[in-house]
Amino acid sequence: MDEAKDNLDRGLQQVEKLLPAAAIERLRIILSEEDYIASLQSFSQPKPIVFRVNTLRSTVEDVLEEIESSGLIVSDIEWCPLGYKLEVGSIRDLQALQCGKEGWIYIQAASSMTAAHAMQLREGMSVLDMCAAPGSKTSQLAAAMNNTGILVANDRSKKRLYRLREILQWQNTTNVEVLCGSGERLGKSHADCFDRVLVDVPCSGEGRLRIEKPARFKRWSMLEIRRLAKLQEQLLIAALRCVKVGGRVVYSTCTFAPEENECVLDRVLSRNSIKAKVLPFPEELLPNSARSSLSKWGGKTFANNLEGAIRIIPNEITTGFFVSVLEREQ
Ligand code: SAM
Repeated sequence: MDEAKDNLDRGLQQVEKLLPAAAIERLRIILSEEDYIASLQSFSQPKPIVFRVNTLRSTVEDVLEEIESSGLIVSDIEWCPLGYKLEVGSIRDLQALQCGKEGWIYIQAASSMTAAHAMQLREGMSVLDMCAAPGSKTSQLAAAMNNTGILVANDRSKKRLYRLREILQWQNTTNVEVLCGSGERLGKSHADCFDRVLVDVPCSGEGRLRIEKPARFKRWSMLEIRRLAKLQEQLLIAALRCVKVGGRVVYSTCTFAPEENECVLDRVLSRNSIKAKVLPFPEELLPNSARSSLSKWGGKTFANNLEGAIRIIPNEITTGFFVSVLEREQ
C-alpha cells in the first residue's frame, strides 16, 4: 500500500519537474487540488488497454467469447457503451487474437469515445466529422450509423488521411466520403447540410501528457494555446454553419486550457450571427471523473450558460478530455 503511494508521489514530482512553472500555476487554478494531484499522477502511471467492439465486423458476444476463451480478462466500462478495459493480458495478447487482427475491436481511450457517443446518432443521418484524421472517431461514428446515411470525414492533413483510409477499410466502414481541406471552408460549401457535426479540434493536448514523452511537456506554451484558440473558434463557427437548424454539434478537445474550451464556446455563442445553446450532457454517458465546465476564467464570468459542457479528469482508466453538445437554434 505504502509502496503504491510512494510510487504515485514520485510520479507526481517527476511530472512537476517536466512541466513549465507557468503550466503548473495555471493547472492549480483550473483544477481542484484533488484533481490536480490525480491528473499529474495519472501522467506517470501506466494506462490500461481500453478498446471498443466494432459492430461493423463482429458482435459483443463473439468478441468476449474469443477473449475469455483465450484466458484474457476484460471488464466493461459502465459509462462507455461497447467500451472494455483489459484487466488481465497485454496489448500483444489482444492483438494476436482474431478480434485484434481483423478489426473486430479498436483500441481507443474511453474519454475519446465519449465524443462520438454524445453525437447520439441514428441510422440514415447525415454527419460531418470536420477534423477526422486518423479516424478513430470516424470509424466509431460509422458503426453507430450501422454504415447507413452519409458520413463526411474531412481533415486538412493529406498525410493523416492516408492512415484514416486504412483504418476505415480495416474497420469495414462503407458510408464514408473523405475530403481533404480546411474545416473552416466547409461553413460555406456545406452550409445547413448535416444532422450532426463532430468538431474534434487540434489542441494543446494537456490531458494526454505522458512522462515517457517529455517532448510534449517542452512544447507547452501560452503562445501555442492562443494560436490554437483562434483556429478552434473558426472551426466551431464553421461547424455551426454546416449543421441544420435543430441539429447538433459536438465540440471536443483533449486539453485543460479554458482558452481552448469554455472561452471558445462562450465567444462563438456570443456572436450575433449564431443562435445555438449548450445542451445538458447525457446523464448515462457521464464518466466517473466528469466535472462541470468552468463558469469564469481570467477574471471574466462567461456570458452564456455552459453548464452542460464537461471536463473529464484523467484517472487510472482514461485520459483528460473536454466535450460539449451544442444545438443550433436558428
Ligand atoms: N478526430 C480524430 C480522431 O478521433 O482520430 C482526431 C483529430 S485531431 C485531435 C485534430 C485533427 O485536426 C488533426 O488530424 C489535424 O490534421 C486536423 N486539423 C488541423 N487543422 C485543421 C483545419 N483547419 N481543418 C481541418 N482539420 C484540421
